[in-house]
Amino acid sequence: MKPLNCPHCEGKLMPAIFRAYDLEPLVGLPIVMPRLEGLQCSVTKEHKSLDGQVLESIRFALAHAAIELEARLHADLARYLRRYMGLTQQELADRMGITRVTVARWEGGEEPISPQNDYVLRGIARTTLAEKLTKPWARKMPAAFRRLPEVFAEVRQAPPDEPGPTLKAVAKSMTG
Ligand SMILES: [Zn+2]
Repeated sequence: MKPLNCPHCEGKLMPAIFRAYDLEPLVGLPIVMPRLEGLQCSVTKEHKSLDGQVLESIRFALAHAAIELEARLHADLARYLRRYMGLTQQELADRMGITRVTVARWEGGEEPISPQNDYVLRGIARTTLAEKLTKPWARKMPAAFRRLPEVFAEVRQAPPDEPGPTLKAVAKSMTG
C-alpha cells in the first residue's frame, strides 16, 4: 500500500507504535494511552494520527466504561457521554424531561448529578452504544483498551451514591 501524504507537510505517514499517546485533543478527556498503533510523519514526530476506526473504538470504550461505573458520574464523564451521543445540553435536557440549566450545573461541576438523572442519562447512552456495536470498527478495539475493566475497577470502589473520581485519577491509574 502506498504511504499516505502527511496533511501538514511534505512527509509521508508511516505505521508507528506510540508508547504514550495523548488522547485529550481527540476525546476531550485527560487520557494518555500507554501503547497505541497509528501513523507518524517521516519528517517530524509532531505530525501523527490514529486510524479512524481505532479512534471510534476508543470513544466507544470510554463511553462503555463510563456507563458501567458504579460510582455516580463525575462532571467530565457526564459531559463526555452527552457529546458522544451527539446531543446539545438542550437536546439532552428535552429527552430527559429536565431543564438545560440542570444539565449545565452537573457538567460544570456546580452540583453532582442526582442519582435519578444519572440513571436516566446512562439508560439513554446505553441505547446509543447498542446501535454503535453493530459497526465494523467495534471489532478493532486496541489491546490496551481490553484492560479497561481492570482500570475502572478502582473507580467502582467509590460508593454508588457518591460522585466518582475525576478522569484525571482514572487516567493516572491507566498509565501508572
Ligand atoms: Zn508532516
